[in-house]
Amino acid sequence: MCAARVLSDFVDTVTIIERDAYPSAHDFRPGVPQARHVHNLLARGLREFERFFPGFERRMRECGAVAVETGWDVATLWPHGWSQRSHTGLWQLYASRPLIESTVLELCRGLPNITFLERTEVTALRAVGETYRYCTGVEVLSRDDGTTRTFDADFVVDASGAHSRAAEWLQQLELEVPEDEIVDGYNGYSSRWFRQEREQAWPPEWWWKVVFLRLATPEQPYVIAFFPIEHQRWLLSYIGVNKAYPPSHEDQFTAALAKLPSPVVHEMVRRMEPISPVYPSRATRNRWRHYERWRKPLGRSPWLFAAADDLRFPTTLGNRSASVRLFNWYRLKLATCSNKRVGTRLSDVTQFVRPLSSLFAPQIISRVVVATMWQKTQQVRQQASSHGMRLMPPGA
Ligand SMILES: Cc1cc2nc3c(=O)[nH]c(=O)nc-3n(C[C@H](O)[C@H](O)[C@H](O)COP(=O)(O)OP(=O)(O)OC[C@H]3O[C@@H](n4cnc5c(N)ncnc54)[C@H](O)[C@@H]3O)c2cc1C
Repeated sequence: MCAARVLSDFVDTVTIIERDAYPSAHDFRPGVPQARHVHNLLARGLREFERFFPGFERRMRECGAVAVETGWDVATLWPHGWSQRSHTGLWQLYASRPLIESTVLELCRGLPNITFLERTEVTALRAVGETYRYCTGVEVLSRDDGTTRTFDADFVVDASGAHSRAAEWLQQLELEVPEDEIVDGYNGYSSRWFRQEREQAWPPEWWWKVVFLRLATPEQPYVIAFFPIEHQRWLLSYIGVNKAYPPSHEDQFTAALAKLPSPVVHEMVRRMEPISPVYPSRATRNRWRHYERWRKPLGRSPWLFAAADDLRFPTTLGNRSASVRLFNWYRLKLATCSNKRVGTRLSDVTQFVRPLSSLFAPQIISRVVVATMWQKTQQVRQQASSHGMRLMPPGA
């Protein structure tokens, strides 16, 4: 829908061909099974949605999305300890993926030159020409009556997600298939939805709206993301990394929460009612189809952030280039740096509101070096083990 919105400024009509029927309520649909898991809408993503679809933020808030200031409302446990709480001025909205998608859909449907063709599956590309091949449309299959037909178009964009069959379609037309770069950290998600009763009183010192346990070390191979979403609900994803797949049985899932190095998640869950089964997913492979190598290079930052974490582990499948190793080393220094300006800059880059290169500005590098030396001499760096680490977020 974002691609359609961009194109709608340049062409007469955009048609979105979707194999599912979009649900009328904020509900799941088969084409996006990942909707059952946490979807962190970063600050930059929020800005871009608002730019493409004015009124997005207001509509999301009206539907119950939770406004969160990164750094201030988020309790994050890293392997070296809890992050310091500080204002960043960067706002995110926390909501379920179905709410995010249905809000975009509602605003997209209001655009006069975008139309939708639902329950229609693209099965091939159509092209003409010998020396140069021009795409003239797509073959489509109706999921209602099983009929096939050609849908003519001047310009075709493949937005069919991680399981796109574009490579196969290009091969059928005897066209070059872009190189594939895959990074597979063999991660798995187990997610469960909870409801918090309105009258439920939490201890007043529990200041956080979001909890992340970003451990992902060989000793503690998991990340926990616990988000508030619309309608007093919370979404908990237990993400096992590097083949340490998380439990998907309800009892084992609950038992695993009680064994985490901080009791915070278990204590919160104890005060809530589970409203879903545990949903498992192992479809977390990162794939970069290098279409940009056909023409001009694109920015690498989102890919680096998505792939570099996984590439820290020896069993991860993927290319550990020198730049990835350097980035991982430097990112650890940034994350453990107690300097406030460095923390804000890292937050800006992680939320994609500043470019990656800004992490390498001289004033940031010098602060990281000074802070690292100071931490070493003072020996104040907290350890990853539960002996040296606070159990609950600071202030609680
Ligand atoms: C477990 C998990 C957790 C995630 N968490 C986050 C997160 O926290 N934050 C974040 O930003 N991202 C997250 N993501 C990634 C995010 O879900 C995807 O990046 C995003 O959905 C990709 O959008 P897309 O439009 O390319 O594809 P999709 O959202 O997958 O949409 C593809 C669409 O194409 C349709 N389609 C497919 N094939 C055809 C066909 N042949 N004909 C017609 N229609 C077709 C599908 O039905 C679907 O509607 C997560 C992904 C997973 C798997």
